This record gives sequence, structure tokens and C-alpha cells, in this order.
Amino acid sequence: MVYDVAIIGAGVVGTLIARAFSKYDMNVVLIEKTADVAMGTTKANSGIVHAGFDAQSGTMKAKLNVRGCALMEDLCKELFVPYEKNGSLVVAFNDQELETIKVLYDRGITNGVPDMEIIDAAKLRELEPNISEEAKGALWAKSAGIVSPYELAIAAAECACGNGVEFKRNFDVDAITFADGVFSVKCKCGCEVAAKVVINAAGLGAAEIAKKFNGEEYEVIGRLGEYGLLDRSCAGTCSHTIFQCPNEMGKGVLVTPSCHHNILVGPSSVNVDDVDDMSVRVGALRQIFATAQKSVPIVSTRDMITSFAGIRAHHVDDDFIITPAKDNDKFINLIGIESPGLASSPAIAEYVEEMVINTIGKPVEKANYNPSRKAPVVFRELPPEKQEALIAENPAYARVICRCETITEGEIRDAIKAPAGAIDIDGVKRRTRAGMGRCQGGFCGSKVLEILAEELNLPKEDITKFGGESKIIYERTK
Ligand SMILES: Cc1cc2nc3c(=O)[nH]c(=O)nc-3n(C[C@H](O)[C@H](O)[C@H](O)COP(=O)(O)OP(=O)(O)OC[C@H]3O[C@@H](n4cnc5c(N)ncnc54)[C@H](O)[C@@H]3O)c2cc1C
Repeated sequence: MVYDVAIIGAGVVGTLIARAFSKYDMNVVLIEKTADVAMGTTKANSGIVHAGFDAQSGTMKAKLNVRGCALMEDLCKELFVPYEKNGSLVVAFNDQELETIKVLYDRGITNGVPDMEIIDAAKLRELEPNISEEAKGALWAKSAGIVSPYELAIAAAECACGNGVEFKRNFDVDAITFADGVFSVKCKCGCEVAAKVVINAAGLGAAEIAKKFNGEEYEVIGRLGEYGLLDRSCAGTCSHTIFQCPNEMGKGVLVTPSCHHNILVGPSSVNVDDVDDMSVRVGALRQIFATAQKSVPIVSTRDMITSFAGIRAHHVDDDFIITPAKDNDKFINLIGIESPGLASSPAIAEYVEEMVINTIGKPVEKANYNPSRKAPVVFRELPPEKQEALIAENPAYARVICRCETITEGEIRDAIKAPAGAIDIDGVKRRTRAGMGRCQGGFCGSKVLEILAEELNLPKEDITKFGGESKIIYERTK
């Protein structure tokens, strides 16, 4: 079959593009190198829906960030994705930084950011009682928010696949050719997909795919960002996203609540050569926490339950590049989608949809398109009478598998059965939070493995942690 559109990369950008095209009467395929949705940069970032004052005026980053931020709240409601408009604060510690936040405010006005205010130290302390005594004032952007990035991508994929998009996992694009109006997208394993339009949303892999297609070169630098995640007991540390003034390497170290009431501290910003190595460097956390303590002195590594890292795809021009290949307007490259790529993602999807429609004409819309997905059950958040009703319907909701996060067997089975559902332990974790609590899966991991094997009808030895060679059980010992 020849697909109308092939999208390479199932991060937040690719999945939202897939959802955008799933409303049309078209055959669409979403291609992903790894075993699951949201395994790239979308998995590990700050989860901030930036207001849009940071990007230089007139850039794609500025335009798409402001639009994305405006779209995000309704999108998250529609897709049942955790989101909170908590507002952000850029804190100034001296006169020079007070000038910097004024520059950011003016830039925000030019970029079209609504609801900003420069506040003094007293107001800042009223908003954030744990802020440092040294803070002199802040830029308060009330339109900024927090979102669960991987849940947004998962929800978008569920919506797209529920509307007929095909999801191909473990499809590592190695070559693309074009003949007679059709692209042939080839996987390393030898399989092939034919399509009339190709969208290259492969994140850190996008520049290489662009080069493989027609030799076009984009200069992209991998930029590592490391984090520490604090236990839920620290939830009261702050309610806004607290930034320090930005520098040439990015927006600096922040302290923020996550959508699931943990506190996130980070990221670092270090250029790296190996974009596959997402390990946290020795000593990095000490440095990150020391920097974070400048704005919120009470954050401490003692409260950390885990650490992680992600890598940004930074283009040397410091902007998003969303453009057709130079000799083929049906091959669209998305390069350098670093921060604010998550905040911009709904607007990026809209922009790419428009680009394609301008090239091929507007396809017919499906009469039965569903812009949403099946609402996931979040058992722990239900009132007792609803929990009881659910258990009466399906006793699997009565069995708690993850004790730290109170995740039931019913929720885990739902996550596996969903469109583009979980096929490994980390896939269940990202969809349900089983394994995200204090014990980090120490207690529930083996039970999740059993449920996966049962639902997927596979031997337990075939269940992995995150696809590939990440096996958990090698052989029976007794
Ligand atoms: C430390 C850090 C902090 C950040 N904080 C924020 C923030 O707070 N707010 C914000 O707006 N943005 C933030 N970002 C940026 C944001 O995370 C990214 O812009 C966004 O996740 C990019 O999504 P994507 O879909 O383009 O890329 P990805 O999520 O990387 O998805 C690309 C997909 O393509 C796949 N792929 C790659 N090569 C191939 C291939 N050859 N064949 C098939 N598939 C392939 C990958 O496996 C991956 O799944 C941050 C980024 C980092 C690293």
C-alpha cells in the first residue's frame, strides 16, 4: 500500500502531527525507531509550557511557542492529559538581572505573550514563601503551565491510532528514495514503507535522515540536560515554575512542580557528541542542586527519588527549522526542535498540517473523526463510590499493583490494550505511573511483567524494560 502521509518519529511533535492528519480521509503511518511512543527527547524534559518571552522576536520559536501555549490547555482537556496553568517566575538577584527581566517582559509583549507582570520581592515572597532572601523581584508569566510531556505524546498517538493511523514500532529509518511521486522509506531491518508525503519529525535523528534523503546538511548539536526528581513529600516547595535569568546555554536551572506533584530540579546544559548516552554524569547533580538552591534554598538531594537526563537537538541558528527539502516540497524536515518544542508542539502540528495542505490541497475530512481518546481510569483520584462501581464492573481495579502510586491491575491492562498501547515495563510506567513512586518499581516490576506477558500472550522471557535488548528474565533457574 502507498500511504498518503508517513511521519517519522513518535515524539510529541510526530504524534501530534499524526493526530492532525488523522482527521482526514487519508492513510497515515507513524514510524518509530524504538519500541514505543515518547522514547526520545519527549521522555525527559522539564515539562514546562513556556509563555513565550524567551525566544527572540520574529523567530519560529517565538511564534510557535506563543501559539502552542495558547492551544495547550484545551488540547490537554480534550486528550485527558495532566496539565496545570501554574505560571512561571524568572527571578532576579541583582540590579543587572532586574534589567534582564525588563528586557524579557518587553520581548514577551512583542512576541504576543499575555498576562505578564514584573513583581517586587514582597509580592514574589507572597507567591513563593520558600524563595531565597536574596531575590529582588521577578517576571511573572501567568499563561505558563506544566504538562506531562510523554502522556501528551501517548494521548496524541492513542487519538491518532484510534482514528486509523498505523503505528510501526522498531522501524529505524535508514534510507529514503523518491521515484514516480512516491517515497520509499526503508528500515535498517529491510522493511519498506511507501508514501506520497514524508514528514521527518525524528528529533535528534532528523538531521541525519534529511542528509540520507538528499544530502542536505543541518548543523545540530546535542545538548544534555540532567535532573533530580524529588519525592512527593516535597510538593509544597513551590507552586510556580521558578527560573533564574537565562544565559547563552538556555533557560538555566529551574525548580518546578510536576503535574504529578513531585518537584523537579534541573536541567544542566552541556554540549555532547554521543546523543544516545542519556546517563547522568558523576557530580552533575551536586552542581545542579547548588545552583537551584540560589533561588529555592530548601531543595536538597536528600529528597531525591530518581535522576534522569534528556538531550536537546540544538540547531546552530538557535531556531526551529521547519521546511520542505530543497528539491522536494513533499518531504518536510523538522530540525532543531529543542525547547520550547514541547510548549510549541500543538502549534508545530498545526503549522505542518497547513504546509502539507498548501502543497497537496485540502483532503476530505472524516465524518466520524474523534479528536479525543478513551479517558484513562485514574483509580486513586476517584471518589469511593466511583471506585466501588468500577470494581463491581471489573475486579481487576480492586488489585493494587503499584503501592507507591496506587495503580491497579485494571489500569495496567487498559494501558496495554489501548491503541498504540504499552508493550514493555517502561511503557506501562509512562501510561499509568506504575513504578514511578518512591520504590521506582522495586515492588511492582515483576507483577507488571506478568500482566504484560499475559495480555500480549508472550513468554515472560520476551518482556523487556524498554524494548531492544533490555531483557529482564533470561532463563528459568528452578
Ligand atoms: C533537558 C531538556 C529540557 C527541556 N525542557 C522543555 C520544556 O520545559 N518545555 C519545552 O517546551 N520544551 C522542552 N524541551 C524540548 C522538548 O523536550 C523537545 O522540543 C520535544 O520533546 C521534541 O519532541 P520531538 O517529537 O521533536 O522529538 P523526540 O521526542 O526526540 O521524538 C523523535 C522520535 O524520533 C525517533 N527517531 C529518531 N531517529 C529515527 C529514525 N532513524 N527512524 C525512526 N524514528 C526515529 C526517536 O526515537 C524519537 O522517538 C526540553 C528538552 C530537553 C532535552
